[in-house]
Amino acid sequence: MKTKFIFVTGGVLSSLGKGICSASLGRLLKSRGYSVTIQKFDPYINIDPGTMNPLQHGEVFVTDDGGETDLDLGHYERFTDEDLSKYNNFTSGRIYKEVIDNERKGKFLGATIQVIPHVTDEIKNSIKKTLMRKKTDIIITEIGGTVGDIESLPFLEAIRQFKKDIGKENVLYIHVTYIPYLKTTEELKSKPTQHSVKELRSIGIQPDIIICRSETKLTDSIKDKISLFCDIEKEDTIEAIDARHIYEVPLMLQKEKLDSRVLSKLKLKTGRSDLKSWKKLVGTIHHLDGQVEIGIVGKYTKLKDAYISIVESLNHGGYFFKKNVKLTWINSELIDESCPDDNIFINMDGILVPYGFGFRGINGKINAIKCARESKIPFLGICLGMQCAVIEFGRNVLGLKDANSTEFAPDTINPVIDLMNDQKNIDDKGGTMRLGSYKCKLSIDSKAYKAYRKKIIFERHRHRYELNNYYRGKLEKAGMIVTGVNPEKNLAEIVEIKDHPWFVAVQFHPEFKSRPDRPHPLFRDFIGASIEYSSRKIKK
Ligand code: GLN
Repeated sequence: MKTKFIFVTGGVLSSLGKGICSASLGRLLKSRGYSVTIQKFDPYINIDPGTMNPLQHGEVFVTDDGGETDLDLGHYERFTDEDLSKYNNFTSGRIYKEVIDNERKGKFLGATIQVIPHVTDEIKNSIKKTLMRKKTDIIITEIGGTVGDIESLPFLEAIRQFKKDIGKENVLYIHVTYIPYLKTTEELKSKPTQHSVKELRSIGIQPDIIICRSETKLTDSIKDKISLFCDIEKEDTIEAIDARHIYEVPLMLQKEKLDSRVLSKLKLKTGRSDLKSWKKLVGTIHHLDGQVEIGIVGKYTKLKDAYISIVESLNHGGYFFKKNVKLTWINSELIDESCPDDNIFINMDGILVPYGFGFRGINGKINAIKCARESKIPFLGICLGMQCAVIEFGRNVLGLKDANSTEFAPDTINPVIDLMNDQKNIDDKGGTMRLGSYKCKLSIDSKAYKAYRKKIIFERHRHRYELNNYYRGKLEKAGMIVTGVNPEKNLAEIVEIKDHPWFVAVQFHPEFKSRPDRPHPLFRDFIGASIEYSSRKIKK
């Protein structure tokens, strides 16, 4: 089968949930038996989001092959259950870099390098690069930003040309817009959508389908208006009202027949849709009973998107036990100096310390971990969370008062966390960490093995610093055991506290591999332990 291309653009507003719409469409098409991949173009100049502040850009999602990518790729993976690669996310910076590198190599034979055709050609090329890695029946390409932005113009021009190159029966344009509701006149308004489509048409793109995000149901008359003014069939005006839960979106879009419209336009057989497991998942989400309270102690708590995969993974664990996961966000910088008097940690059923960079908020995280360790509250540490667990244990159990990471105290006498040798001479910040999937061997007698039920696992990484093997013996003697090791480099990947109901801290990022209907084993067991802890608390 020849690959079909779907392009998703956004209009009127940012943050409309284009990523969720693309991910949902991916799920719907997969459930009809097609192989699907999803790709995102981001119009900013950074080569990748790896160097951007999480408070501005949200989480950096890491792929198996070490790509530092936009958080939408997390949605794509979770919705379609397909592992993606660094070729599923391209920024303007990465496209321009490729063009400029080729110019320096003399590959353009003396030509004057221009946005059209050189940059647009490279954009089209990058769609092919994704497909070269994994050929699929359908590729969905989401264009970041909003139509009308100056910086997305080369991308729009490239996808316009694509139709001519590939043939119109193989290309489909979907525009996601917003239909505001005006309270005073009690009306839905189509004008912003009309303007956005006008803008898109001025570039030469006529949308085939418009997904209308709105707070309330679309009336027949608004659908008529959009159809008339935007020149699409009424059935191609797809309603997408605010969902109670993101995982409901595929089912809502299917009710609107989005998938069958897409397939018939691309001249593909509609076939039977198998959404049984997805419907079961949504049923579970609607019938959760009771709750478990997890405290997340981090530095980027002002922007929840900074921890989006962690939040999703905790929820996945909750679905497994049919419980709501209530999150309490604790800003580690506000509790930096000492444990607060009315100890907030003690009321939690579980404590999670996530990833992070830089020294701010470190003491707050260490305080939280001390409380989890001493009060035997279930604890999951992720990346920096594991490093802080080792520092806490070094300081408070081994009595090494200046135990620290050389990231925060380069001259400390007790560098329990230190830079890996192969990181020591690297000055560049972007793309230079230990990135992507690495092997880890588990000890059989461990919480980790109990969770995974296998000896060899693969998990994704994004960090520079490691547990310093010089201290391993001392830590283990005092009760902090290394239960997961990278066999090639003998790096500690997991530590656990022997004398604790559930204290597991990992150097990698389990949150990138959790799926809504298949929770990551560590998140599942962390939630399980937290539920148990909470019921023990109630009995007391
Ligand atoms: N800053 C730490 C390091 O680079 C932890 C990184 C992380 O939490 N992802 O090793």
